[in-house]
Amino acid sequence: MALTARQDLMVRSQLAIAAKLGPWAKDAGAEGAAYVSATVNPNGAAGLKCENCLFFRAPTHCNIVKGQIERGALCRLYVIPQEKLGPKKVEKPVAVSAAPRNRFEGSVG
Ligand code: SF4
Repeated sequence: MALTARQDLMVRSQLAIAAKLGPWAKDAGAEGAAYVSATVNPNGAAGLKCENCLFFRAPTHCNIVKGQIERGALCRLYVIPQEKLGPKKVEKPVAVSAAPRNRFEGSVG
C-alpha cells in the first residue's frame, strides 16, 4: 500500500494530534472531523469511505475519531491510498466565492 509524501505526513501529524489532544469528535465544528454516515457520503462508490482509510479499525472503529464508525462513512481526516480509489469520478466540490476565506489562502504556491 503506497502513500504519497503528503499522505505520509498527514498520517503522522493526525496520529500525533490524536495522541496529544485525544481523538476527534464526529461533529462539523472547528474541532470536529465532519463525519458523514454511509447514507450521506456522496463519494463512497468512488472508494472514498472509511473502510479504505488508513485509520479504520474494523469492524466499527477508527484510530483518530471517536465512536462507532460505519464502513461506508467518511470524514475530512481521511487518508486513502490511490489504489483504493475506484474509477467513478469524485463529485465536484461546491463552488465558493473568489474572496479569500482565511488567512492561509494564497500563501502556498
Ligand atoms: S474517514 Fe478515516 S479518519 Fe475519518 S472516520 Fe473514517 S476511518 Fe476515521
